[in-house]
Amino acid sequence: MSLTLAIVGRPNVGKSTLFNRLVGKRLALVDDQPGVTRDLREGQARLGDLRFTVIDTAGLENATDDSLPGRMRRLTERAVDMADICLFLIDARAGVTPNDEIFADILRRRSAHVILAANKAEGAAADAGVLEAYGLGLGEPIRLSAEHGEGMNDLYTRLMPLADAMEEAAEDVAPETDVDISEDDEEDTEGRADEPPAITAEKPLQVAVVGRPNAGKSTLINKILGEERLLTGPEAGITRDAISLQIDWDGTPMRIFDTAGMRKKAKVQEKLEKLSVSDGLRAVKFAEVVVVLLDAAIPFEQQDLRIADLAEREGRAVVIAVNKWDVEENKQDKLRELKESFERLLPQLRGAPLVTVSAKTGRGLDRLHDAILRAHAVWNRRVPTAALNRWLIGMLEQHPPPAPQGKRIKLRYMTQAKTRPPGFVVMCSHPDKMPESYSRYLVNGLRQDFDMPGTPIRLTLRGQG
Ligand code: GDP
Ligand code: GDP
Repeated sequence: MSLTLAIVGRPNVGKSTLFNRLVGKRLALVDDQPGVTRDLREGQARLGDLRFTVIDTAGLENATDDSLPGRMRRLTERAVDMADICLFLIDARAGVTPNDEIFADILRRRSAHVILAANKAEGAAADAGVLEAYGLGLGEPIRLSAEHGEGMNDLYTRLMPLADAMEEAAEDVAPETDVDISEDDEEDTEGRADEPPAITAEKPLQVAVVGRPNAGKSTLINKILGEERLLTGPEAGITRDAISLQIDWDGTPMRIFDTAGMRKKAKVQEKLEKLSVSDGLRAVKFAEVVVVLLDAAIPFEQQDLRIADLAEREGRAVVIAVNKWDVEENKQDKLRELKESFERLLPQLRGAPLVTVSAKTGRGLDRLHDAILRAHAVWNRRVPTAALNRWLIGMLEQHPPPAPQGKRIKLRYMTQAKTRPPGFVVMCSHPDKMPESYSRYLVNGLRQDFDMPGTPIRLTLRGQG
């Protein structure tokens, strides 16, 4: 039995955007087929483990905003009648308009279940609109950003009990009806790593486990999966050879890119090495946090160093995990040795977490979990501009910038332009003359004073007019 959700609202509030997000771009092509009616689009949506049919009423691009043509009204009423639940969108940036009120009236009269959502709610500019939405008398609005994928978790939370109730009611009154759930059901997850993952309730933390063959990647992922409830997957009874697996690991939704599972699918033995390298590259591009898994018996081999360096250059957060710790006899000496090798061989990752684990026994997995969260948090850190500029003054006093050819380089102002990884911009005179060593002094200072160990930090010098 499939639950049907209709997305309704006046033009331009973001219905299509939400539809596309729920259905995924592949299915959104449905109405590009000639002869398919264009005024109502239907698709199969996924949200976490929920699956439902979604109807989009955004077929009336030409409807002007200040009138609500009869056709729009009829269309909406038709959708409402077809649906079990209506998701009523308003534009939080525009606030509640008279046309929104008309829609609210239609819904109050015709639909048993209405979920109100204030879309375009990313950022503070939407706050007033969200508050206004309460005034529609349709309950608490969900803050959504269809474009940025925010609020999907709340949508899930609101839909789930209704879906359950609907399911029960359907079982009570009707025999199972055969519903055509379209061919996407059996889709192969292979080869789709470049596409966004299936819609999930909350954006999971993207983790890749990389390492040389036999480091223990499969064992590690199996251990994590074995001990934790599988939250969702593209299909029920997710298989080990999926490209990525979504899990709930100690309360943290994570999507783990599983290179080992892919490698094991390769039938031709000779292909193994090649494949695992390109898998590693793909995994690094996919990930927010890259776990470099080493074998304690042969740590920091060339291939390990290469992939760790690649992860740093790609701007990913890195965690070094040393596996097979259970067979290590002299743990203390070994750990000291590992830390020394790490500093010497991967200075660009200084301060990144290094944890020891046993994928086999499960020891140290809690440490690994925490290290992943820590690395991710640092990677996301944002330093307020005011603090940054106060800090810059101190740094300049402590160690004034050089004066090539007698002209002192002036650093005027600094701001954090991005996160993930942290990126900073300094406005200065003669950026081209700035020696590398001074940039390094600033980056090391940032790392230390704002507590950003082990994350790649980007510093851009920009000249002024
Ligand atoms: P529809 O007419 O209701 O189907 O609206 P569309 O989905 O076509 O969206 C109308 C416009 O709003 C487009 O330019 C979207 O890119 C934009 N939009 C949709 N969702 C969001 C959002 O969450 N935030 C912002 N800022 N813009 C959005
Ligand atoms: P992958 O190629 O990186 O996926 O490595 P596998 O997970 O297939 O593991 C390679 C071998 O190492 C297997 O024989 C595992 O049983 C073994 N192994 C994996 N993790 C551990 C561990 O923590 N301790 C020990 N002693 N052996 C392990």
